Amino acid sequence: MCPVCRARFRGARECSRCGADLTIIMTLAAAAWRMRKAARQALIEGDTDRARTLASQSEAICRTPAGRSLCTVCFSLRSAQPEPGC
Ligand SMILES: [Zn+2]
Repeated sequence: MCPVCRARFRGARECSRCGADLTIIMTLAAAAWRMRKAARQALIEGDTDRARTLASQSEAICRTPAGRSLCTVCFSLRSAQPEPGC
């Protein structure tokens, strides 16, 4: 979403409605996408702590429905794990 006029973000560097420069928004969205991808890979590798950290960071940068779902999964898995030594 454009931070100036709140028009829907369409993946362009310039807002189609108000002309604001959205380069920073695109950069942050791409960084969040890479973090979600890395979080999913960490889940596959069984590193739930790393997955949780990456998923949380991605949501802090750019909130998305996919990121929210990923956070839910990461936190659910963490709480479901037994304590060390159990
Ligand atoms: Zn705009």
